[in-house]
Amino acid sequence: MAIEIRDVAYHRNGIAGLPFYAVLFNDTDAGMFNQVATIDEDGKDCRVINAGMVVTAGEIGTRHMNKWRGDRYLHEIKEAMREHRHNEYWDWYTSIFEQDTRPQCSECGYAWSACLGDDEVPTKCKCGGEVILP
Ligand SMILES: [Zn+2]
Repeated sequence: MAIEIRDVAYHRNGIAGLPFYAVLFNDTDAGMFNQVATIDEDGKDCRVINAGMVVTAGEIGTRHMNKWRGDRYLHEIKEAMREHRHNEYWDWYTSIFEQDTRPQCSECGYAWSACLGDDEVPTKCKCGGEVILP
């Protein structure tokens, strides 16, 4: 699989829905473009459809072989984001897949990037809370 990430967005999903990430990508080895993955907020589950193949909602997963292994794509998307540490998707990678490894404020919940060294993360947050290292 050769994954080209094209765009990533975080969807709050209203005030009551479960938030998720949407990833638009190409699978160039399979010749599939406009693949759409939705990834749960915890980065552990993923669903994939090809938006270009969908005519009606009832066709998702039935017509035109629009059936994709979300679990396999989740791994490939993660690797594609991680391979390019200096590209625009690195922050998305840490948001989606390294959220549990980030230093976090015990009071306000603010999280610092997992890329920062220990000497770059303060021991006290601006709000006065203690910063907890993972
Ligand atoms: Zn704080």
